[in-house]
Amino acid sequence: MQKKELLYEGKAKKVYKTEDPEVYIVSYKDDATAFNGLKKGTIVGKGVVNNQMSNFMFRLLEKQGIPTHYVEELDERETAVKRVDIVPLEVIVRNKAAGSLSKRLGLAEGTQMKTTVLEFSYKNDDLGDPMVNDYHILAMGLATREEIDQIASMSLKINDLMIEFFRSVNVDLIDFKLEFGKTSDGAIILADEISPDTCRFWDVNTGEKLDKDRFRRDMGGVEEAYAEMMKRLGL
Ligand code: UDP
Repeated sequence: MQKKELLYEGKAKKVYKTEDPEVYIVSYKDDATAFNGLKKGTIVGKGVVNNQMSNFMFRLLEKQGIPTHYVEELDERETAVKRVDIVPLEVIVRNKAAGSLSKRLGLAEGTQMKTTVLEFSYKNDDLGDPMVNDYHILAMGLATREEIDQIASMSLKINDLMIEFFRSVNVDLIDFKLEFGKTSDGAIILADEISPDTCRFWDVNTGEKLDKDRFRRDMGGVEEAYAEMMKRLGL
């Protein structure tokens, strides 16, 4: 598998074409941003962690019946993935209150939600990824009713599987963000990444944050936290 033309460079990844029109190569960078790009920095080794952890999670989810874009890990930073059209939604899954939900609803961070909360944001950097509901999604044609329902039920199943897995390595899964894509035959599959950039992970015993909040909030020990998550996954 050879990298060809650079298709897209985002905040944390580059995407290349390959000789196979149905396969792209993702290359994970160490660049870190927060607050819609306002805060910029580098987390040394992050690209390696996010690549290897995402692939580990995608393989685990595939075994449990969740279709993903994962094809093959090529090296420590690069992975072959299926070409998809990204559904322009960020799906946020929340088990405990944190971050923007805590602020918006006045809930202390760590408050257990009685049921899982699903939120959608419209992927649009210029607008700062505004939150949208089903009506907005349908009215803007971002996804169909059937696609929304499928994305919601896949997200809840992924949450169940991830809660159970992370619990087994002493990590409390607070919340996370997913993105889905549509294959050429119209199937909805899980895409993007699952990493400390896109999830909140708290140590079950100490409550220590093992994710990107350490960077967002200038807490220090960022690289160490990413390395600790790799260790817990046996990577
Ligand atoms: N998240 C993400 N990308 C975004 C926004 C959020 O990966 O553009 C993840 C974030 O890491 C957290 C969850 O989604 O695990 C919920 O984030 P929240 O809405 O609380 O936003 P934040 O407080 O990070 O701005």
